[in-house]
Amino acid sequence: MTLEKRLENNLQKKHKQALYRVRSIRQQSQGANIQIDDQHYHNFCSNDYLGLSNHREIISATKTALDEYGLGSGASALVTGYTKIHQQLEEELAEFTNRSKVLLFPSGFAANIGTITALADKGDCLIMDRLCHASLIDGAKLSGSKLLRYRHLEIDSLEQRIEKAQQNLWVITESLFSMDGDSAPLEEISAICEKNSASCYVDDAHGFGIYGENGSGSVKAANLSQQQIPVLVATFGKAFGVSGAFVAGSQALIETLIQSARSYIYTTAMPPALAAAVLKSLDLVKTENWRREKLFDLIQRFREKATEKGIPLSENAHGPVQPVIIGDSSKALKVSEQLAEKNILITAIRPPTVPKDSARLRITFSASHDVKQIDLLVAALADVLNLE
Ligand SMILES: *Cc1c(COP(=O)(O)O)cnc(C)c1O
Repeated sequence: MTLEKRLENNLQKKHKQALYRVRSIRQQSQGANIQIDDQHYHNFCSNDYLGLSNHREIISATKTALDEYGLGSGASALVTGYTKIHQQLEEELAEFTNRSKVLLFPSGFAANIGTITALADKGDCLIMDRLCHASLIDGAKLSGSKLLRYRHLEIDSLEQRIEKAQQNLWVITESLFSMDGDSAPLEEISAICEKNSASCYVDDAHGFGIYGENGSGSVKAANLSQQQIPVLVATFGKAFGVSGAFVAGSQALIETLIQSARSYIYTTAMPPALAAAVLKSLDLVKTENWRREKLFDLIQRFREKATEKGIPLSENAHGPVQPVIIGDSSKALKVSEQLAEKNILITAIRPPTVPKDSARLRITFSASHDVKQIDLLVAALADVLNLE
């Protein structure tokens, strides 16, 4: 069969399973309101939890850095791509997260792939929550280490996997899970790691900026030290409203990554202006507590009103990610389309992003939403889910 024919066949199959993905074209900036293909929507599917993605001060800090440093970083960080702004951001993040050192990566995907492959040897065993992000799974596969997965958030299942393993052990989890909105019991997991001499790796992509004092993240919120959680990853594309990521840990850990993380060494450094944007964002995350307070007020209002209407929520989702599980992929697509007709934008999340038969609406909240939008959302959901 020719390549063209094989590709066409596979695409047809995706169509039939309601798993085909299409991109839509956004106009202008995005926020609580969004314009796509000339239609206006209330936006309930971005990860801009604190509403910082269009902040005037962040944009202006970026422009200032552009004037001084230009746009492209020109080379990888190990050649000439590393600047004083990158260094300052790394130092401020280390202090904020209570870690010795920080290393910036151009994206969270690159951070996870590069870090896992640099740290885990072929003879090691990685034990991972079954619902971990694709970048963690791919990093684990690339590392060539043995990979065992435990049932989502289930400590018993984690302990069983640990008992079976003989090698150097790693336990890898997200904090706030991106598609389920529930949170890993980090204290318990860290205690199990301590007992079994396993190294704990936490991806705080969705908790950083949201949890902990001044938004310093889930690990700091749980008061877990660098010794307890030696590898901490977080990203700037979610609550920070920018793009990029970092790994935080000991001096030896960060030096190891500089020597060996291939997605750090062989990629163009994050542009300095983006590092300047993140620095300003960090300043706002730390000082504007009202953003987190407003966000959690809106989430609480949503959960109360949705429960009154009988909308099936996840019992364990208390943060800005609120899934409504539909199950069937084509039904989830249809519900999402019906919501769009009511100017509510929530894309349907389907396998393989989520497990088979668990297609869902992944509703996300932002400090830039207002109360009226929450009420509109609940009414629209009740309507399309036939609950009235
Ligand atoms: C979004 C996300 C990433 C990837 O981060 P990017 O900066 O978007 O590449 C990694 N891990 C988790 C848990 C995420 O949700």
